[in-house]
Amino acid sequence: MDYRLLADRYGTPLYIYDFDYMTSRYETLKNAFEGKKSLVAFALKANSNLSVIARFAALGAGADCVSYGEVKRALIAGVPKYKIIFSGVGKRDDEITGALNDDILFINCESEAELDRVEAIAQSLAKPARISVRVNPEIDAKTHPYISTGLKENKFGVDIPTAKRLYIRAKNSPWLEPVGIHFHIGSQLTDLTPIAEAADKVAELARSLIALEIDLKFFDAGGGIGVTYKDETPFTPSQYAKTIAQAINGLDLTIVCEPGRFLTAGGGVFLTRVLYEKRMGDKRFTVVDGAMNDLVRPALYNAYHRVEAIGKSGGESLCDVVGPVCESSDFFAKNISLPSVDRGDLLAVHTAGAYGFTMSSNFNTRRRAAEVAVENGADRLIRERETYDDLLASEVKLLNAAR
Ligand SMILES: *Cc1c(COP(=O)(O)O)cnc(C)c1O
Repeated sequence: MDYRLLADRYGTPLYIYDFDYMTSRYETLKNAFEGKKSLVAFALKANSNLSVIARFAALGAGADCVSYGEVKRALIAGVPKYKIIFSGVGKRDDEITGALNDDILFINCESEAELDRVEAIAQSLAKPARISVRVNPEIDAKTHPYISTGLKENKFGVDIPTAKRLYIRAKNSPWLEPVGIHFHIGSQLTDLTPIAEAADKVAELARSLIALEIDLKFFDAGGGIGVTYKDETPFTPSQYAKTIAQAINGLDLTIVCEPGRFLTAGGGVFLTRVLYEKRMGDKRFTVVDGAMNDLVRPALYNAYHRVEAIGKSGGESLCDVVGPVCESSDFFAKNISLPSVDRGDLLAVHTAGAYGFTMSSNFNTRRRAAEVAVENGADRLIRERETYDDLLASEVKLLNAAR
């Protein structure tokens, strides 16, 4: 990848995505389920650029959405409605209505109260709702607490006895059609054991529901497959697929998985330019033109991203790579060894293809970065850099209205 050329062509800060990598990740995972009925539903929140979604859609992927906005994106990008799943703890009435009108595959319900709303809205639309219930299997996924979701203290899903009751309720309602069962215990999982335990527990519940003539069709094992940022050694797709298949052995269910990070993280680089080198006593800071508003993972999770000084070597010393935002958490790396760099040099922040752009903001009235796709050696702009006019447009209207 010629980072200098891309930086000159599109400016910095810049997200660059390797579509060949993303394609091969999808195919590796999909092929791991060979011989089983499966749907790999890309979790849009990891990277929801329309071109990224369209790439996966063309390969046959579905979409896992956590807002109605994401359902819209999936449809616009070309994901067929029968491959779209809508999850999330707090769906508004208009979101549920939208999803039912769009006739998506199923809505994942995360509480009894939410199941009530889905039922009422389905009745008002005279359209039975295909649903699944998110089961919280109460298993410690052993990941960062902010991305761990399978414990009682987390806000996600319902416990197993409640789930059973909700399925029986749904079966007896003319407006609810329970077609799936779902769990998702966390993100960036590198140990297969908690996934195996969760899958076994949820599969056991599925067996008891099927015995009650609840006609389940989908076993949705969520996302969470971990990737290597630094020195993690995650399980392989084939180990993962085997584990899920084993849990539902003998059941006629389509396996659904919802990978986000696995598909896109390693295919993304965040490219930023050095503005200044700064020393305070012994401390070296490399100040760059990207910031926490562009890539918040270091600030939010203390996440590690490898930083590479493009085309530089020699004069290594420890430094913090920091952005211009007025927060001490505005850093990309701390105490890393970096060659000496000059103004204008490029730094590549690696493994930034998931939860990078999608978590970006306009904090400090900074324009959000551009995004570029590279495929077969050709680069294409897939999101223009925001302009100051874009950024202020809605506020100007409010000022006019108040006059
Ligand atoms: C976030 C999320 C995912 C994707 O998680 P990754 O760790 O990116 O694979 C999948 N399913 C649900 C319900 C989620 O909330």
